[in-house]
Amino acid sequence: MGFCKLVIALGGNALQESGTPATAEAQLEVVKKTCEYIADISCKGYETAIVHGNGPQVGRILMSSEAAKDVTPSMPFDVCGAMSQGYIGYHIQQALRKALDKRNKKVPVVTLITQSVVDRNDDAFKSPTKPIGPFYTKEEADKLKTEKGYTMKEDSGRGWRRVVASPVPKRIVELPAIKVLWDSTICVAAGGGGIPVVEKEDGSLEGVAAVIDKDLAAERLAEDMNADILMILTEVEKAAINFNKPNQINLDHITVAEAEKYMEEGHFAAGSMLPKVKAAIMFAKADPSHKAIITSLYKAVDALEDKTGTIITLDK
Ligand code: ADP
Ligand code: MG
Repeated sequence: MGFCKLVIALGGNALQESGTPATAEAQLEVVKKTCEYIADISCKGYETAIVHGNGPQVGRILMSSEAAKDVTPSMPFDVCGAMSQGYIGYHIQQALRKALDKRNKKVPVVTLITQSVVDRNDDAFKSPTKPIGPFYTKEEADKLKTEKGYTMKEDSGRGWRRVVASPVPKRIVELPAIKVLWDSTICVAAGGGGIPVVEKEDGSLEGVAAVIDKDLAAERLAEDMNADILMILTEVEKAAINFNKPNQINLDHITVAEAEKYMEEGHFAAGSMLPKVKAAIMFAKADPSHKAIITSLYKAVDALEDKTGTIITLDK
């Protein structure tokens, strides 16, 4: 194998175990296990970059910040995103360094605070859907609406929450830096999909309150880096049709056309498997040599050797 460029998108289970307390210490323990798998992949000779999710983490940062607002000013959501990239990246740097050292692999690990440009006119901004932060009463919600201009929605009888848009990442601002880092490091980039920013008329960037899908950001990065493989690691070994039904069929190697057909038939749940399949299709479509893989962290090495996982390519 020559040098093969690989972008890994890490799902929620790579950072946090369900049923354990959401402490920083517990996260580090999970990240240590995750990094054993990533180190194995790196030792196979792949030039790897890592994109991770940050939904629960950025939510908690926002909540602490809001809860402490009478003591110290609360942080804007884009700043919370930057903070989440920082501490998740720190954990990966520490854990992956250790895992690589055990394998005598010398490559440095670096985290890059990364911004993703979104379009101010993205349709997503017209109807924000992603709930973030704490629950509020109706009165508090009304106050936030008028005072801060937040969009507030009632969340299934549990109270009111702020909702933000989930726009498409158009451009990764730090791409030139990632290119420089690529050859000589394992780079953790576009964490949480990147900090969402819009471009102003004078060319400067401004953070916005939005949530970017990390699978789509990983796809953007993989395409822009001319990567060979986009690997989306989650809880399941394969994407399936008729998921969770008696007639469930796990998907092995499928073409873009097949994936699109299943997607149109509604087999992939919005907010979970759908963005992964969408990202995989986009990447596979961009070049006939591209390979997109959806599998679990534990099966990652096997999937890279075509032994398992759902593999999506343009043709077969
Ligand atoms: P992550 O945190 O890794 O981004 P999500 O929890 O958002 O992952 O999405 C992965 C989950 O999607 C799987 O664990 C599975 O429960 C669910 N899922 C929904 N539809 C499907 C499908 N068609 N095939 C496989 N898994 C699916
Ligand atoms: Mg999840």
